[in-house]
Amino acid sequence: MKTHYGKYGGQYVAETLMAPLRELEAAYEAAKADPSFRREFEELLRDYVGRESPLTCARRLSDHLGGATILLKREDLNHTGAHKVNNTIGQALLAKRMGKRRLIAETGAGMHGVATATVAALLGMPCEVYMGALDVDRQAPNVERMKLLGAKVNAVTEGSATLKDAMNEALRDWVANCDDTFYVIGTVAGPAPYPEMVRDFQSVIGREARRQCLEKYGRLPDEAIACVGGGSNAIGLFAGFIDDPEVKLVGVEAGGKGLATGEHAASINGGRLGVLHGAKTMLLQTGDGNIIDTYSVSAGLDYPGVGPEHCHLHDTGRAEYAVINDDEAVAAFEALCRFEGIIPALESSHALAEAIKRAPKLGKDKLLLVNLSGRGDKDMENIARFKASKGAKQ
Ligand SMILES: *Cc1c(COP(=O)(O)O)cnc(C)c1O
Repeated sequence: MKTHYGKYGGQYVAETLMAPLRELEAAYEAAKADPSFRREFEELLRDYVGRESPLTCARRLSDHLGGATILLKREDLNHTGAHKVNNTIGQALLAKRMGKRRLIAETGAGMHGVATATVAALLGMPCEVYMGALDVDRQAPNVERMKLLGAKVNAVTEGSATLKDAMNEALRDWVANCDDTFYVIGTVAGPAPYPEMVRDFQSVIGREARRQCLEKYGRLPDEAIACVGGGSNAIGLFAGFIDDPEVKLVGVEAGGKGLATGEHAASINGGRLGVLHGAKTMLLQTGDGNIIDTYSVSAGLDYPGVGPEHCHLHDTGRAEYAVINDDEAVAAFEALCRFEGIIPALESSHALAEAIKRAPKLGKDKLLLVNLSGRGDKDMENIARFKASKGAKQ
């Protein structure tokens, strides 16, 4: 079992959480080795999520840019509209196997809460989702979705009433109820074994994309690019290419209003080493170690930490981490709508914006693989508000 990634990761938790983490580790090791667990997981990915997701060539956009060819891994076409369901299915099946009756989850923008509530309904398990009170107000449609799916949404008023506080409350619930409760974490963060487990469940993205690229183009992509909030869709994509040193791995953090303004969500590029939610990782924090609230036009990239494996990939140089600000992400969002007839999630638009920057500088024979982590229907209101605020300033 992998607990550390270089100096990052680990299990920085209260003594009371060590027993449930050990139980989880053992159960996950056994599940991984059990072909019937894998079969059930793969069947649901195929018949419920609709995998495999296509690899789409963004032909008109690439021609317009006049350089490398941009390929899109279409996680936006999954059931529930993003990559998150790959992970919630894996963890919910593990919960069932462990005899846990109840699922809990944290959520920020609400996408992981919806993906957990979805799987809870599918498997007939009660589900409670912790969500910062501020986010409950800001993300009303997702709160409605979770309720429709049968989940109970608990508004968290502690701290800044956002994602990090929701995660603290979920951890507290887990400590108190670990006998019958499974905590479904939404990204490659948290104490071991979560980062490894979530990575494994999301690695289907990279495995499929690698095979699809070889089949269609007879070779691997030159670069694999994904946005990084906590880092699960990026790690899932990278997993397919980590052993191919010729494939450049590029993570893209949310630069918000710009790194210099302090209003961003770029933990690797703008944070410092610390401990959050049971793992040592790069964090956005003040000089005396208080967590800073993040800002980005895309609510789904708003986590003040980042998965420990990304920090290690950054330190070793295996992956590089770029920053894309709000304006660039929104421009990429609009470009994909107009050139390809695809409305991407604002999160995914960060990865796309990085590809749009790189493509014109590269030859036409180069392939840039972008993970389109989700669809953008959920972002209509955000986009309208963002443009209105820009209009007001001009
Ligand atoms: C939640 C979300 C993300 C960010 O989460 P990661 O764990 O970094 O992948 C990215 N894209 C979409 C569409 C999301 O819903």
